[in-house]
Amino acid sequence: MALQAVKGMNDVLPDEVARWHRVEALAREVFGAHGYREIRPPLLEVTELFERSVGDTTDIVQKEMYTFENRSAERGDAKRLTLRPEGTAGVVRAYVEHKMWGQSDEHRFYYLGPMFRHERPQKGRFRQFHQVGCEALGMPGPGIDVEMLSMLQQFLTAAGVGGLYFQLNTLGCPTCRAAGLAALKAYFEPHRAALCADCQRRLDQNALRVLDCKVEADQALARGAPTVLSSVLACTQGCGDHYRAVRAGLDALKVPFQENPLLVRGLDYYTRTVFEACSSELGSQSAVTGGGRYDRLVEEFGGQPTPAIGFALGVERLLMLQKDVVSARGPELSVVVAEESARSSAMVLVQGLRARGTWCDLDHSGKSVKSQMRRADKAGSTWVLVLGGLEMQAGKATLKNLRGGASKDVALEIDHIQAVIRSATPGAPSANP
Ligand SMILES: [Zn+2]
Ligand SMILES: [Zn+2]
Repeated sequence: MALQAVKGMNDVLPDEVARWHRVEALAREVFGAHGYREIRPPLLEVTELFERSVGDTTDIVQKEMYTFENRSAERGDAKRLTLRPEGTAGVVRAYVEHKMWGQSDEHRFYYLGPMFRHERPQKGRFRQFHQVGCEALGMPGPGIDVEMLSMLQQFLTAAGVGGLYFQLNTLGCPTCRAAGLAALKAYFEPHRAALCADCQRRLDQNALRVLDCKVEADQALARGAPTVLSSVLACTQGCGDHYRAVRAGLDALKVPFQENPLLVRGLDYYTRTVFEACSSELGSQSAVTGGGRYDRLVEEFGGQPTPAIGFALGVERLLMLQKDVVSARGPELSVVVAEESARSSAMVLVQGLRARGTWCDLDHSGKSVKSQMRRADKAGSTWVLVLGGLEMQAGKATLKNLRGGASKDVALEIDHIQAVIRSATPGAPSANP
């Protein structure tokens, strides 16, 4: 039997890759313009990293991670390794490990690449999925929160997401959150038996997580729950002021948002600002991306206290939202060998053109000129150069335009051929028919 890809792991085939390149190029452009620099942590990390950061009460850590016994554990290496289920933990680990706080107060990172979660496969959800994300470290004030949402607005709008708005909430700090959490627990406790098995456990471990449950009956109950918002707004550590400043900043930059006191996000490490970007053109599953502030994570990883904020965005999900097709390009030039005696000189010419960056196609089939011409047309080539012994002897040949432009006589020199190809607009109507 033929072997198949692992269930939930997806091949990205060459026809689709142009759309991936476009998203990746846009990320580099927009995030780069905001001062973010790329970081590439490994895909494999010690399991404890995610247990401590994502939180061992979360679904991700309890059910979804790909975790392995480490064969070299007896030599003192970590016993268990995990394929990264998200990007933030690795970035923060790298930041602490390389003591980057010593180099500057402020750091902005972006990353892109695959993540792994053992979820039940469904439409638009993969077990190897891809994220682009940003992390900004060392900035305690509300300004960076506002700037990050404004940057996301620019990125998502340019990526073709319509009807964009943000959902916004604050989870406060451990001090002010405690009172709200107690009220929340007291509210759910009489309904404990009616909650799903996961939520009964969440109630003991982190009551906020019950607000995030996908079970309909639990959602209905959650809608009547007290939120942590009122105690956060009264925080003596400034959590309320921070939240009000974020709202004012978003208003000033005309970044559309709705407050949602039930928004908690699925990870344990968030503090203060949390957000999701949504599209009004999507149905119930309207979130395109989400993130928030994680002011205590760097310290928990053994670094100096460093406030931070970040987001991650699913590339597959973003591509599903884009309806347009990026049409595949063809070669700039196809070289057709008319006589075998000309082949080795033709290959030298093609080698030179390719070395200078021209996408050049050469038929190795040895079939007729007619058949090679058909193939060049099918491949989408703009120009064709037919080379036989005669052309090689004369040192010149005719560049035929397959896209409706005029043909040109050229000297068989790399510079000349390249100049002619590059100066003509592909597919432009011929000026000299
Ligand atoms: Zn607080
Ligand atoms: Zn539940």
